[in-house]
Amino acid sequence: MKRLWAPWRGEYIRAASARCRAGEKQCLFCALRRSRDDETDLVLCRDELAFAVLNRFPYNNGHLMVAPNRHVAAYDRLRPAETAAIDALVQRAIRALRRDARPHGFNVGMNLGRVAGAGEDTHLHVHVVPRWNGDTNFMPALAGTKVMSEHLQETRRRLRPLMLEKTERRRPALPLKKEGLKGTGLKER
Ligand SMILES: [Zn+2]
Repeated sequence: MKRLWAPWRGEYIRAASARCRAGEKQCLFCALRRSRDDETDLVLCRDELAFAVLNRFPYNNGHLMVAPNRHVAAYDRLRPAETAAIDALVQRAIRALRRDARPHGFNVGMNLGRVAGAGEDTHLHVHVVPRWNGDTNFMPALAGTKVMSEHLQETRRRLRPLMLEKTERRRPALPLKKEGLKGTGLKER
């Protein structure tokens, strides 16, 4: 099971770095954050502090990543609001993937530092990999191979609206009248 926890490595990063200008060291996730072409760059959704993007070299269908907008490597240097924003996007991603493709499980995690398997170790990111029973043999075959971009665009087209959907269920408004509180277990403030 070890390899299931750290299957994600640098292919994506190396490919993306080809887009950088010669001699210019550029962070993949900062490049994605600045991107004005979310469709081509497979960005699923953005908020003020974090964004979600499909992995161009996925280890399974639907493999995506969530990163803070800020260039930060250390998880313990994240601000509370950034941690919350990342968590919220991970949750939205899991919900969207569950609705889209009904996986049987997920690998969710971070590789912090190159020795831990991070391809881009200067900008932390959370991997979300949907898993299906019996996909173990499939994953190494898919890993490192270039997935057809149409396939990824199609995945993005399906996932994006699911991730943008409002997920908060509306709670019924609290009764305004005093008598409305009787028997509800709620106390007046
Ligand atoms: Zn960065």
